[in-house]
Amino acid sequence: MRRFSDTGLLYLDNAATSFPKPPQVTDAVCRCMAYAGGNPGRGTHVLSSRAADVVYDCREAAGGFFHVSPERVVFTLNTTHGLNTVIKGYLRPGDHVLISDISHNAVYRPVYRLAQLSGVSFDVYTAGLSGEALRGELCGLLRPETRMIVVTHMSNAASFSDSLAEIGQFCREFGLFCIVDAAQSAGHIPVYADMEGITAICVPGHKGLLGPMGTGMILFSDTAPLCDTLMEGGSGILSLSGEMPPDLPEHLEGGTLGTPGIAGLCEGIRFVSRMGDLGGHISELSSLLWEEMHNMSGIRLYGKGDSGIVSFTVDGVSPAETAGFLDRCGICVRSGYHCAPLAHRKFGSMENGSVRVSFGVFNTVRDVKRVVDCISKCKKISI
Ligand code: PLP
Repeated sequence: MRRFSDTGLLYLDNAATSFPKPPQVTDAVCRCMAYAGGNPGRGTHVLSSRAADVVYDCREAAGGFFHVSPERVVFTLNTTHGLNTVIKGYLRPGDHVLISDISHNAVYRPVYRLAQLSGVSFDVYTAGLSGEALRGELCGLLRPETRMIVVTHMSNAASFSDSLAEIGQFCREFGLFCIVDAAQSAGHIPVYADMEGITAICVPGHKGLLGPMGTGMILFSDTAPLCDTLMEGGSGILSLSGEMPPDLPEHLEGGTLGTPGIAGLCEGIRFVSRMGDLGGHISELSSLLWEEMHNMSGIRLYGKGDSGIVSFTVDGVSPAETAGFLDRCGICVRSGYHCAPLAHRKFGSMENGSVRVSFGVFNTVRDVKRVVDCISKCKKISI
């Protein structure tokens, strides 16, 4: 494995995008550009057919990984694109939607926009509840016009996850769309489109699935109704009609797909499938760092520490200064609000946001020690 950290830099910003990518991924991108350079689905010549095969291979790999048939895999540019598609495609004026208090702006902003423009209303439920407490919370917020719950499977602001199985069951019982933002969980912990009650799962290709940036997917369950289009355009089929084709995936895939990225994503999915419990590995690393930092004075930790992310502030040093200090030590982390204002309100880090260390599959225990040493030095400059 070619390791980026061999150059001396330590990448710990995997919640933003994973890095490095497996060599199979980068090789597949280049191979696709060299040998499958036609437009997939737009011609019958050899280069177009090879490109169509590349795209279909990835649909199959993703379908197997997320338990859904290949034609119900819709390629998107990222998670945000997928979430906008399903939220705006399913909701109608007058509808009510529940989002969680760990929602990323990729959920909060489309819903907020619909609330401003289209008479959609929303409420925020408390993430992390289970059993009777969860049911009581959701029932209390339910209205006759409630149509959808958008579940943020795992927060990106701190280690914290929500109960997908229970919310899926609730949605099934009450006939609601259940949309899953699996931006932080896909590739790390199981999330399947055939889980009870789930309508669609939106995932990035470029985080836990180890694909290139500019890739993402919507995985529609077999029972999900067709949702309205966010964009219309060429689909390579039914060209004489003014309507988008009525079937997935073409219905939602207007315009040329990012075939080289999809080629890389396919290898990323295969890599993750072969590796097994990657979530367990990153969870061990973040738990270790959490324990070390828990014992340090002058450190405030947010959320939990067990799902790959450690979110913290150093007393007397702003998150931006701390991240800058780590950067000068060759350690890449993110600081600020991580596009998740609701989550910072929940975790108590609203004032300045936090510093976020997010582990990836190629990080090791040695990396944890290096961060601890650097944070100890950063604490000294604050005294
Ligand atoms: N949802 C969550 C929980 C995220 O963490 C992110 C990105 O970090 C997104 C949505 C948006 O993902 P993307 O950058 O793939 O659009």
